[in-house]
Amino acid sequence: MQKAVEAQNRLIEQDRIILISHDTAEVIQELRSLQLLNSPEFFECTNMECLNFEGNMNFISDQSKADGGRFRCHVCLQTKTLRKFSIFEGSKLPLVTLYRLIFHCFANGMSQAQAELQTGISHVTVRQIYKFCKKSISVDIQREYRENKLCELENGNYTAQNPPTCEADETLISHLNQIENKSQSQVWLLGARQRGTDQVVVEVIGNASMKTIVRINQFFTLYVATNRNIRTLVYTDSAQCYNGLRNIGFTHVSINKKREGFTDGPRTTNRIESLWSELKSIGRFDSGLNFNNLDDVQIAVDEVVFRWKSKRDDLYQLLSEILETNYYLHNLSINNQ
Ligand SMILES: [Zn+2]
Repeated sequence: MQKAVEAQNRLIEQDRIILISHDTAEVIQELRSLQLLNSPEFFECTNMECLNFEGNMNFISDQSKADGGRFRCHVCLQTKTLRKFSIFEGSKLPLVTLYRLIFHCFANGMSQAQAELQTGISHVTVRQIYKFCKKSISVDIQREYRENKLCELENGNYTAQNPPTCEADETLISHLNQIENKSQSQVWLLGARQRGTDQVVVEVIGNASMKTIVRINQFFTLYVATNRNIRTLVYTDSAQCYNGLRNIGFTHVSINKKREGFTDGPRTTNRIESLWSELKSIGRFDSGLNFNNLDDVQIAVDEVVFRWKSKRDDLYQLLSEILETNYYLHNLSINNQ
């Protein structure tokens, strides 16, 4: 019942987004409320020789100009576009189009080809906007991974009998040859998922020869807290590459799946394995992705993880928060990726 109500609310929200995406004034208002455009009070004359220096500028409506006008100092006549100091500053596309591409097409998981049809925008431009959204999400996911390690003690009620626990596993994603529909190239992912939470980390590690103890230990050191007094418990399969975990401070349980078969007790890596199948059902890893560029593969994986994590939340709101945060932290804008 709850789910049906949520789905209905999302539909209403989508209708609202499509409706306002036809009207420049409404889009401007919406982008201001999302803090992606500066409010009118932000615009001050910056001409030190002007009598109105640091005084307000007025909005001069002019339908022949992009965005329906610009701000102007009534004394020195200096003008500023309303995109000044925003993620849109370097883009020439109308705000209604940018809004529609980001918050309707991209947020809903439309393919780039669908987005081109929806908006009538060129292939190159749609790709640029999509790349910007994907990069933004990736920057945010990577920051989250580093700032909130899995299995931190302060995030739960843990005891020596009930330590923070995660499952780790590797999986292959493959690149399909679109003509023959055959696997062309494959890349290994390494992931960990904390039990009892939705917290996951997924990293692209590359080809099979990179599944080494050193590489696995590096992953755990970066993304999973060891905890000295109440040691983090890690379940993995019996692959050799996990054999160093004890030496870097984890309690490690290795499960020989062939010998033990399917279990529903604590000796399992079912949760991380189900994450793999869920990610693969969301992700489209074969759409123009270059598997030789592992950074690009990581960006694609981060997007899929983001969509998986936010499935119950409002992606619209999350995406706008990410874009705002990245602009302030990294000056990440559409033309500055
Ligand atoms: Zn002035």
